[in-house]
Amino acid sequence: MTPHNHHHHPKSAPIPLIIVDGFLGCGSAVLWGKFSRFLNISSEKCENRRIIFVRVGPVSSLHDRACELYYALTGGTVDYGADHAKLHKHARYGRVNKAGMYPQWSPEQPLHFLGHSIGGSTIIKLQFLLKQRYFGPHVHPDMVLSVNTISAPFRGTQLVYILGECADAAPAVRPLSIGSLLSKWVHLVAFFSPLLPELLDLHVEARSLSFRDMSPVSLLKQLWKSDWAESHDAAPYDMTFEAADERESTLEGRAHPRTFYRSHVASLNSRLLTSSLPTSPLSSILSQPFRLLSHPISTFDYSVIQPAPSFLENDALILSSVSRSSDVVKNTSSTVYSSTLREEYKENDGIVPLFSQWHPLPCRSTQCRHFEHSKNFTLPSPDPGTWNVYHMDAANHISLAPCWTGNFQQRYFWTSLGQWLYSIDDHRHLHNSFSTDELDQYN
Ligand SMILES: [Zn+2]
Ligand SMILES: [Zn+2]
Repeated sequence: MTPHNHHHHPKSAPIPLIIVDGFLGCGSAVLWGKFSRFLNISSEKCENRRIIFVRVGPVSSLHDRACELYYALTGGTVDYGADHAKLHKHARYGRVNKAGMYPQWSPEQPLHFLGHSIGGSTIIKLQFLLKQRYFGPHVHPDMVLSVNTISAPFRGTQLVYILGECADAAPAVRPLSIGSLLSKWVHLVAFFSPLLPELLDLHVEARSLSFRDMSPVSLLKQLWKSDWAESHDAAPYDMTFEAADERESTLEGRAHPRTFYRSHVASLNSRLLTSSLPTSPLSSILSQPFRLLSHPISTFDYSVIQPAPSFLENDALILSSVSRSSDVVKNTSSTVYSSTLREEYKENDGIVPLFSQWHPLPCRSTQCRHFEHSKNFTLPSPDPGTWNVYHMDAANHISLAPCWTGNFQQRYFWTSLGQWLYSIDDHRHLHNSFSTDELDQYN
């Protein structure tokens, strides 16, 4: 196929984009705003891309969220898996999806995915489960054509320890911490869930936490000490470095050779001239909580975490002969760590440090290309099996999504994402026509 007849060909519809929200996200298009105008800006010649928002458990573990995402798309009763359910003491089956949002989903009809925050980590978990044929022999990692993430905590974040997770005994939660208050809120919302609006739907029916399934006395017990918050099957634990190390030990998140990967990494630092860009009053109000949280994240002492995260041994420290020689390290570990920690372990978007937003696994164990956002930036050609990492300065955890402000950063992001997805669609189109030709030779 030549570029000339390309335009005259009746093009197939663009491959739909699935959007997955982050922690406490409501999975609704309302907040995300008018982004689709910019996503489709380069689509004059064909129809607009279909966008599907999928709501999954806003406080649930990555495993539970990935299962809910799968069945929301294909339809049917959510099956968390017999072994998983037994191990984590909740029911095997969850809600019934009477109709799937994309029942034709298959290796032949794959989908694009975009996740904000743990929505990104959820997509990685989903592709890992597809690779394991978790939902049956018919599923395949090829069903995920592209993974696009914004500020995803692939490798965990120290914020969970700052907010309440015990640094040396996760998933235990410190009493009277913000994390502990959050777990009380979760139990109250879950208990009264049959009476509450859909916006507060926590997707926890498999745990029997509502007043239909548990007594007020049991609720009080859970408010005192929560089985949910202090389990290995909840979102906060999945954001610990321990959980991330567990995932990476099985090579979860290793790039699939036929999937396209792109991550967007936000940093509150402003090295370039981006700080001189006009900011709206709304943006500056929204950024305040992230500015407050950024300081404890950047000054966090990683050496207090037990078991020690694997990156402390392998990647986080700038190796120098002075600090690494002999057993001095053991005696003065905290001072050595804080003085020689690499920048990407301190720099953050107010929620997640940079190194964790890049991609799963350290750079030496995965294929990756890192780019700085700049004015005359040209999009690289799509290359499957490689993470394309985009750095954004002067941006916080929610600068791009989920709250629409319509500023330059957001318009630029959605326009460039739209172009990227079209080039992947084209790449696939070409690739498929070649492989059909190849097949024809053998038939
Ligand atoms: Zn579970
Ligand atoms: Zn990398």
